[in-house]
Amino acid sequence: MSLPINASARWALLCLLAGQTVLAADEPAGWLGAGPTRTPYYAQESGRPGPKVLIVAGIHGDEPAGPAAAEQIRHWPIQKGSLLVVPRASVAALAAKTRLSPDGGTNRVNLNRVFPPRESPGGPAQELAAELWSLVKTQRPDWLLDLHEGGDFRGQTTNSVGSSVIAADMPEAVAAARKILDAVNATVTESNRAFVFLSRPVKGSLARAAADELGARALILETTIKSQALALRTRQHRLAVHCLLSDLGMIPDEVTPNRLLAGAQTEGRIAVAVYDGPGNGGAGVPKVLEEIGRQPDMLAVRVSADDLRGGALEGFQAVMFTGGSGSGQAKALGLEGRQRIREFVDRGGCYIGICAGSYLACSGFSWGLGLIDARTLSPLWQRGKATVKVELTPAGRRALGMGEGWFDCLYAQGPIVGPAENENLPDYEVLAWFRTEVAANNTPKGIMVNSPAVFAGHFGRGRVICFSPHPEQTKGLESWISRAVAWGTQRPPESLPAQ
Ligand SMILES: [Zn+2]
Repeated sequence: MSLPINASARWALLCLLAGQTVLAADEPAGWLGAGPTRTPYYAQESGRPGPKVLIVAGIHGDEPAGPAAAEQIRHWPIQKGSLLVVPRASVAALAAKTRLSPDGGTNRVNLNRVFPPRESPGGPAQELAAELWSLVKTQRPDWLLDLHEGGDFRGQTTNSVGSSVIAADMPEAVAAARKILDAVNATVTESNRAFVFLSRPVKGSLARAAADELGARALILETTIKSQALALRTRQHRLAVHCLLSDLGMIPDEVTPNRLLAGAQTEGRIAVAVYDGPGNGGAGVPKVLEEIGRQPDMLAVRVSADDLRGGALEGFQAVMFTGGSGSGQAKALGLEGRQRIREFVDRGGCYIGICAGSYLACSGFSWGLGLIDARTLSPLWQRGKATVKVELTPAGRRALGMGEGWFDCLYAQGPIVGPAENENLPDYEVLAWFRTEVAANNTPKGIMVNSPAVFAGHFGRGRVICFSPHPEQTKGLESWISRAVAWGTQRPPESLPAQ
């Protein structure tokens, strides 16, 4: 069957095959599927002879790390050969967050058991498989990498293939898998979470079919969902793909696995790095991603502690730490990660803290970032969780875009602060006050009422905004987060859509 690509994409593809670069980096080379299953694929062509590598992700919809990594990897410039990426193979399964792809009727299909597809396709899932297979057959990649995730660590159980590299039964594929294992395992600190080698992709999988039918050197990369933040798993996929592409000489030295953003990707949008890792807790990360995701002029990306230590903030305008444990976040970052964040803000980056992220920004803790001249008023912090009243100051109304009056806001043991009187830091400005309080667990009464709920300051050339309560988890106040991003990155709030 023929690929349903439009004339300009077909022309572009022909040019690509002829070795010419004609596409803007963010423009799809073509599309697979139709209607709700329609999904783009992308091509990077160096114009120089070299291997052709095809990366596929999102065949299973409940495995988000592969698609996240593929979306980043497809922007890596290449210097040799060509790189094709299908970042979200089954958009319907990804939207439903299910392993199986919907098949039109009541059936669902495991898309990774139908290759090579039979002659007469049935529902949308088989149709998609046929088009994906047609792309592989037309392109004839030298290498095929299929990015997946497992539920548990293969090194700990035979019930899952998580944290493994599954290589086709070909010497070059096996050798590449060994190198990838070394590269990724160099970053794995707990030995029982190490990646292991597995032989031969399962029958019916895209990788197995590509190897058996077309002779492609095929690998399946599997990260582990259990107990590991999405940002870490995404990084492990980037590490693995980076290992292969650099071994093939396809990417320049300046492209490291810490490259999360490319210019074309941000398209002038404000890029916000949202910390996703140890020390985090609750719904903060998904909530801020949702809110920032609603803004056409903003882009939010999850980052791990390793990413931050590796210099991943380059290209970002803001970094955000949400709820959980400030000391836990600090521990995960380590001295080096904390120093990187201080340098980022010092150079003009914006820091936004929510609850734990605000503890992390405060002065007075040995583990703190010391970004703002505020300290906690009591060592007893377990004040409890409650809805409290907050009131914006005139500066807060301008920054966060809401009017007078008291607002209900979720509070969950966020910092109660006063001036730290650190001579090296400018005084903070209060954007909102707590007007009521909660004081459970024998925490001191009276210190929360009329203390700062939202406070902001400067650190070097950058701005720092701290929320003690949780507007991102309070209905009606979510926009405070994107307004804080706009204000902290010094964009006029008028550039945001009306509330
Ligand atoms: Zn899978």
